[in-house]
Amino acid sequence: MKDQAVYDVLIVGSGVAGMYGALQFDPGTRVLMLAKYDKTTSNSNLAQGGVAAVLDLTDDSYDLHVKDTFIAGRHENDPEAVDVLVHEGPDDVRKAMELGVRFDRNADGELDKTLEGGHSRRRIVHYKDCTGAELVRGLLAQVEARPNITLAENTALSALKRVRGGFRADLLTDEGPVSVFASFCMLCTGGIGRVYRYTTNPKSATGDGIRIAWELGASIKHLSYIQFHPTAFNSEDGEQFLISESVRGEGAYLLNCRGERFMDRYDDRLELAPRDVVSRSIMMESRRTGSDRFYLDIRHEDAAFLYERFPAITEGCRRYGVDIAKDLIPIFPCQHYLMGGIEVDIDSKTTVPRLYACGECACTGVHGKNRLASNSLLEALVFSRRAAADIRRCMQNGYPGVEALPVAPRETGGAPLPAGVVDEIRGIMQRAYFVMPDAAAIRFGLKQIDNILKRLKGGKYACTREWVEALSLATVAYIVLKEADEKI
Ligand SMILES: Cc1cc2nc3c(=O)[nH]c(=O)nc-3n(C[C@H](O)[C@H](O)[C@H](O)COP(=O)(O)OP(=O)(O)OC[C@H]3O[C@@H](n4cnc5c(N)ncnc54)[C@H](O)[C@@H]3O)c2cc1C
Repeated sequence: MKDQAVYDVLIVGSGVAGMYGALQFDPGTRVLMLAKYDKTTSNSNLAQGGVAAVLDLTDDSYDLHVKDTFIAGRHENDPEAVDVLVHEGPDDVRKAMELGVRFDRNADGELDKTLEGGHSRRRIVHYKDCTGAELVRGLLAQVEARPNITLAENTALSALKRVRGGFRADLLTDEGPVSVFASFCMLCTGGIGRVYRYTTNPKSATGDGIRIAWELGASIKHLSYIQFHPTAFNSEDGEQFLISESVRGEGAYLLNCRGERFMDRYDDRLELAPRDVVSRSIMMESRRTGSDRFYLDIRHEDAAFLYERFPAITEGCRRYGVDIAKDLIPIFPCQHYLMGGIEVDIDSKTTVPRLYACGECACTGVHGKNRLASNSLLEALVFSRRAAADIRRCMQNGYPGVEALPVAPRETGGAPLPAGVVDEIRGIMQRAYFVMPDAAAIRFGLKQIDNILKRLKGGKYACTREWVEALSLATVAYIVLKEADEKI
């Protein structure tokens, strides 16, 4: 990738949305795909549970999937987007399989479908408990085999500017800053988890795409619709990893610090209530018992089955001395998923011409107020395909493309970002807007974040990846708290 190179499509992100989107273009389309860290550092690569899709109409129906999605989303979902997701999704899952992605099968060779919280039917296809890694493996092999796709790792988009016929993208690479031009841009930058101290998201999830779209004037919607997962492994060292919903789907109980099941106090669906309900129940139970010690208990299941069904969770727990078949698994809620994001229509178009957003950074409206488990990988597949189809239509209709323009020498000086800024932002978000929002802390937090933003934008700091991420986190925190403050 050379300075001032010209592409037809810039795809920012190498998760499922970015890769599946990239594979929709014909061999004549020049695609540049960016990964901020290495190509597999993404939320996609960590997804465990699976992909929800109605693949068999004998014991399931589109209407039931739609209904479950609406119930989880508290009926704030966009009906058209849900319709597209549920009806088109099964074909995208089949296409993923054609591209080489594997899902577990039963002894008869049929897809093994599992159940997760909020689903009324077993409709989640999975690959053991590492479905995301398998999707990434399969799609990446295809991406890397396509000569028209350039995949640039360790390359961060720092800013996007509109120019005639497209965009100029300013990138930070290991070799220094570079600017490239693209006629269309698909932001597939994933979530915002790292705005919290406790999150299942990897280091790439700093909301860069949302900040960049916001700076371009794109509409951002429902950024305060954040999902907290009830069951992250509660390690002593502060790193969280997900204990998938499907562990509860397979029969695990939630226990409080006294070893008692408690979900019946809060919801009739017990452990299989939607995740926001379970997260809030844990926080309320925590207040009631005065303890933040909670556990999952699946010791009543067969050990061999558990190790085979949940190899990644087995291994993750084992690293902390916990045997899932013999021990209680310590858990606590943490940030997990963003329902809101860059506002898009059903073709993933943002309110900025030629700018598309797909996957977790986008707000298609399919999830409403709360995402139904395993609907997000499906959303990434369906809506990145639709974005690419729309771009193809534009190109076929003879949209004028972008041309390289002279780029002024970039400012490379400035102080390094001081340690502690990001921790400060995370502390504010933990206090103000975790599972149960705190109105006073939101108001105070807004003022603090405003000051941090002024400091970051003051022109003192060098444009490094750390600064870019801190700016994105502060911007995202600001938008979340502002929206939350208006709603409270
Ligand atoms: C632990 C875990 C388990 C999950 N389990 C499930 C599940 O079972 N089922 C399900 O449906 N969903 C699940 N999810 C959610 C789902 O994985 C994500 O919503 C989905 O993978 C998002 O895909 P994406 O392509 O939008 O983003 P990501 O996969 O996060 O990819 C984002 C990409 O953008 C790049 N990027 C970010 N900023 C920049 C920048 N400035 N410049 C260049 N590149 C940038 C990153 O490097 C990365 O390559 C899970 C999530 C987590 C964290």
